[in-house]
Amino acid sequence: MRILLRRQSGQQFYHETLDFSRCYLKRFRGKTQRAIVGRLPLTILLLLFWCAAQPRLYLTPAAQQIKQQVWNSQSLVHDYFMKGTKYQTPILRFAGPNPGPAVLILAGTHGNEPAGFEAAYRLIQQLANMELKAGEIFIVPEVNRLADSLNERRVSVPKGIPIEKGNLNRCYPGHPDGLPMERLAYQITQFIEAHHIGLLLDLHESPKFHLEYRDDKGNYHGLGQTLIYTPNEAATYLAMITADEMNETITDQLKRFSLVEQPIAGSAAWCAGTQFGIPAFTVETCKQLSLEERVDYQLRIVKIMLRESGIIE
Ligand SMILES: [Zn+2]
Repeated sequence: MRILLRRQSGQQFYHETLDFSRCYLKRFRGKTQRAIVGRLPLTILLLLFWCAAQPRLYLTPAAQQIKQQVWNSQSLVHDYFMKGTKYQTPILRFAGPNPGPAVLILAGTHGNEPAGFEAAYRLIQQLANMELKAGEIFIVPEVNRLADSLNERRVSVPKGIPIEKGNLNRCYPGHPDGLPMERLAYQITQFIEAHHIGLLLDLHESPKFHLEYRDDKGNYHGLGQTLIYTPNEAATYLAMITADEMNETITDQLKRFSLVEQPIAGSAAWCAGTQFGIPAFTVETCKQLSLEERVDYQLRIVKIMLRESGIIE
């Protein structure tokens, strides 16, 4: 058609070709637009489904890999908390050749404080490749597993119930027939008693540096970079040794660790310290620091306490 038209008057050819092109372009644009606009909701919907189907990355790839190796390990998993429920979470156990104190390390009590569970998984990997001196270590890397996977501080509670009933660290000593977090706290309290736990470490994080915020009355507010404990003799000694050793290596004043007495009522450290009289700590790093730095602080604190308790070299 184009060749034929070219033999005719240039003007007519030009005119007709132009019309044809416009017409074709119009049809093409119309089709494409309709195709894109028409399928847009479907495309968005598919994208949303795809995103929802992706596993949530609340752990670093390194921690995720360790989790895959140990989560179902028959030699390491000692038992579970909340067995048979959606809150079920493994308790891992490492034991030395000689009798000694039993330590319970909880991480992921609050799901939006990731340095704790990152540190727990790295500790698990390190312990799997070394020999303990004595005693035993129980580690629960994701104690509030559901909140951890959602990066949430608490789990939700039924309407009309105070939200703090979904905060594991306000539910101790717990209740055998209560809401899920009360039952979980109860099982942990029972575990502390049954296994004669002699040291409890609960790994947390806080948004503000303890040494940065102080009100007119001289009260500190942030809890980042603190060790919080019930002041019995063993706890005070361990707290001082640990803070001293940590602070020797920390030059930035703000990042130094402070000792804070009296964990909040309802917390694991409060319950273990008051009910069982054992050294029990809420270990708090500051979320303003990089994850690597926070994990490093958590790991070093845990290791100093394990060493001072005679469990590792
Ligand atoms: Zn916390």
